[in-house]
Amino acid sequence: MTGSPKPLIAGNWKMHGSEVFAADLAGSLADRMAGHGGGGVEMLLCPPALLLGSVRAAVGASGVAIGGQDCHVAEQGAHTGDIAAAMLADAGCGYVIVGHSERRADHGEDDALVQSKAEAAQAAKLVPVVCIGETLDQRDAGTAVEVVISQLRGSVPEGSSASTLVVAYEPVWAIGTGRTPTPADIAEIHDAIRDVLTAITTQGDGVRILYGGSVKPINAAEILTIENVNGALVGGASLKADDFWAIAQSA
Ligand code: PEP
Repeated sequence: MTGSPKPLIAGNWKMHGSEVFAADLAGSLADRMAGHGGGGVEMLLCPPALLLGSVRAAVGASGVAIGGQDCHVAEQGAHTGDIAAAMLADAGCGYVIVGHSERRADHGEDDALVQSKAEAAQAAKLVPVVCIGETLDQRDAGTAVEVVISQLRGSVPEGSSASTLVVAYEPVWAIGTGRTPTPADIAEIHDAIRDVLTAITTQGDGVRILYGGSVKPINAAEILTIENVNGALVGGASLKADDFWAIAQSA
């Protein structure tokens, strides 16, 4: 792998939106991407599963990618309310977020489960966006690097490569709070993640490492120019076309 990987700007809509909202937001972003010629950035939208059809229709052939917010480990079966990775692929997804801190907290997901979900995603030809990040207590205790690296080693499937894996570093205390780590703190964690990825994956220097946690138009340029930050995973600001587009333009 030579040079930096193409930045990925991913929007996690979480449990927000409606059919009309999805068509408007995704359509607006697709128009801007098409008008912009795609540029040097890849854009990914991860709406609630029920809105994937509307988003897929709205993005059309613009090149904007779509993804799920979670998947089950099994290919199919008696798992009420869950979604298989192959179903997401069938709905047009190229990616799926796994191990988001809200899933780890709300559903008790641990590294082993996240790793199994990432494996299921890869088996369905989806690229998992594997989320890792420390809590505020862990950062205050000085264990952020240790915690994040332990999550990384426990959550990334064996045999992953630059084309089959994205990692998102999301400090739990920065999500939805308006707080962000200092650029030096982000750099320290991303450098540590890169070192491990280089050791445990193929072409580890090309695996994209996203930063997530209160990325806004006002701080995006500073964050996205840090070495080993290869894009952003954006929550709140991905729900506004102007904000999300401004963040993508910063990459
Ligand atoms: C997220 O939930 O992945 C996230 C980064 O949220 P926000 O941008 O709102 O902090």
